[in-house]
Parts: sequence; structure tokens; C-alpha cells
Amino acid sequence: MKAINLRNLNLPSLSKRHIALQVSPEAERAVRRGHPWIYNSAIKKQSHEGAAGDLVIIFDSKRKFLAVGLFDPQGSIRVRIVQHKTQAIINQEWFNNRLSAARQLRASLLTAPPKRATTGYRLVHGENDGLSGLVIDRYKDTLVIKLYSPAWIPYLKNIIAALENITSIDHLVLRLGRNMMKNPQLLFGLVDGMMLSKQAIINPIIFQENGLFFEVDPISGQKTGFFLDQRDNRAQVEKLAKGKSILNVFAYTGGFSVYAARGGARHIISLDSSGPALEIAVRNFAHNQDTPAIAAAKHEILIDDAFAALRRMKKEGRRFEMVIVDPPMFAHKKSQVPKAMQAYVRLTQMSLNVLRPGGILVQASCSSPIEAEEFFNIVHHTCSQKGRHLSEIIRTEHALDHPITFKEGAYLKCIFAFIS
Ligand code: SAH
Repeated sequence: MKAINLRNLNLPSLSKRHIALQVSPEAERAVRRGHPWIYNSAIKKQSHEGAAGDLVIIFDSKRKFLAVGLFDPQGSIRVRIVQHKTQAIINQEWFNNRLSAARQLRASLLTAPPKRATTGYRLVHGENDGLSGLVIDRYKDTLVIKLYSPAWIPYLKNIIAALENITSIDHLVLRLGRNMMKNPQLLFGLVDGMMLSKQAIINPIIFQENGLFFEVDPISGQKTGFFLDQRDNRAQVEKLAKGKSILNVFAYTGGFSVYAARGGARHIISLDSSGPALEIAVRNFAHNQDTPAIAAAKHEILIDDAFAALRRMKKEGRRFEMVIVDPPMFAHKKSQVPKAMQAYVRLTQMSLNVLRPGGILVQASCSSPIEAEEFFNIVHHTCSQKGRHLSEIIRTEHALDHPITFKEGAYLKCIFAFIS
């Protein structure tokens, strides 16, 4: 990478004084198990106030060392633990090691044969790669760093240097989590969507996933532009799609739809409330016209509220042979779970209303406070209440580049089932 814009920014330097911390017995037990978060409410004793990114040393009740974390003075997750059990100096070498390990874990994605080439993947999946609140995605020659905590701002130079150590970077984009934008005074001039490389990106970015071409807008798209975590589920849809008419609810940029078309689907409707996302879905079909099955498939988009559209389709007697339901996160925290569960039940009911007997239901949830078993149970229960018989094809969790190392890290679950 030629030059980085960071020089123009006055990023903070770290305090040399480390914060010493003691936490509640419950939090202490969680830290011992390797949990990466310390909530503000769990802090019992803190040596002094600190700035974002200051190093925190966590001790147990007998003053023995437990873990090293980064301080986030405004966050309800007050400390992001980056090193358990052993002491470490968080220096360039530490960052290099973490990013090399993350890359190693994804090696098999990078060696796929050309027909299944994958140039878009998650390189760093936050706490699950030992870097709590830091995500790095790659779309061909563009890397996207997404920060979910200002604790990483003082380390931005280290992160970029570690990235350059493992890969070449042509274009580098910075994205900021929604919570960070609430405190612009903590951002030191960093802006969501800014380029960190001198070279701007050439729009549109087109990357490959399992040999298919997808367009992505990493500057203003959701997440970092694409739902990379659904790669394996999209491939599963491809295997089951042959000859079917398919409704893809919450389609975003049509990821599932394009795979369904390659799998031989006859007719696909991509339904989403976002017009701009569906425009990209149309272009994603255009980018893959060299694949005969995709050229042959009939693809329609429908800009509408999912619930309203499903209700209308039921009334009109529309029926499909596969319904894919991949909604946005309904529950961010425990208190939202009951309402989220109701929404999942309603979506299952409404999908069954438009699913032919013998059809396939594909339903996903990315709400981390809802556990997989709980989610699968409500899909089963709702089916039997509606007098439909569910026969499971497969239950899936995360793709390889979205590893899971702690309970809350396991957010994605998906069920594929025949419904008679
Ligand atoms: N399945 C997609 C990702 C879905 S993300 C993929 O594989 O890429 C969730 C999507 O739901 C977003 O595109 C968002 O625009 C859409 N959405 C949110 N609320 C909606 C609603 N009430 N009706 C329709 N779409 C909605």
C-alpha cells in the first residue's frame, strides 16, 4: 500500500500507566473460562480512570494475574480482553502474531480451485480471533477494518502494519460500529466509510464467492457490505434449488438468490425493504450471466415490507417450493428475546402459508441472545401447531471464517427442512 491517510490524523498515544482492575466473582469465573468481555457493572475496583485503549490488567481476588484487556471508558463492555492467562506486551509483534494466526485459520478458503474461488471472506472475526471488537473483511483487493470499540483507535497503525505483514493491500476502508458514532469526540477525526489508503476504491468492487461474482459497497453497505457469514448456507441452498420456485425473504443483495439460480432454480423472487440493496441483487445476476443456469433462471425483485408482502401473497394464493427467511437481528440483548421469539414464530407461520406441501423452509437467526436449540425448537413447534410436518435436512452454524470461541460468539443458526 502506497500511503496511508493516518499521517493527517492526530491519533492518541497510550498512557504508560496500566489500569489495575478487580471484578465480581461471577465475572472472575467467566474470565477464567476465557470470556472476552468485562461489563462496567462487574467492576469492583479500578486503580484510576483511563482513556480508550489503555491497557488493563485484571487480577483475581487474591491479586493474582488473570488477563490483559483494552479499556473503553464509555462502553457498557468496559474492558475488551485480548489476552487470557499469560502476560503479554501488546506490541507490533503481538499484532503480527494474532493476524498471522487468523490468516492461517482461513488458509483452506484461499486454496479453493478456480471454479469455487473465494476472494471475499472475514479475515478477523473479533473476539473469536482474540481481537474483541475488531473485524477485518477482505473483498478481493480491498480490505475493510471495522471497529466496534474506540479502544482500537490508538492501535490502528499496528493493525495496518500487521495486515501489510500478511497480505498486500491496494485499498483500505474504515468502518465504525453504530455505538462508536454516538461519541464523535472519541474518534480523533476518524469517519465511518473513510479511505485509509491513498488509492480510492474503484466502484463497483466485484469479488468471488464459491466461483460466483458479487458486487459490494464496503463504504455504505450493511455490516462491511456483504453477509459473508452465510456463505455455507448459500451453498446449501444451491444444492437443494433444482427446478424450484423460490421466495428469498430479506434478500439484501441477493446472495441466496444467485446461488439458488446456479443450483437450477426456475424462478426466484428476492424480497427486501431496501430498494438500493435489491438494485445490487439485479446487478449480481448480471455479473453471473456466463453461468447458463443463472442466465436461464427468472429473477424478480420485490421492494416491500416482508410481513406485509407475505400476508398479501397468502391472500393471493401465491405458493413456492422453497422459502428462505434470513431476517436482520431481532434481539441484541436478553431483554429483547421474548419479542424476537414472537417475530420468528410469525415469520415461520407466514412462510408456511406460502410454502407448498413438500417444499423446503430455510430459516436463519442471527440474534446472539437466542441459542440455537431454542430457535430450532420454535421452528419445530410452530410447524406442528400449524399442522405441518417438518423433516430436518440439516442444521448449520458458522462458516469457517467466523469461528466461535465463546457463547455470545455463536450468533448464527439456520435450519433447512422439508415441510409436508
Ligand atoms: N439474506 C441476506 C442478508 C439479510 S440482512 C444475505 O444473504 O445477504 C437483512 C435484510 O433485511 C436487509 O437487507 C434489510 O434491508 C432487510 N429488512 C429489514 N427489515 C425488513 C422488513 N421489515 N421487510 C423486508 N426487509 C427487511
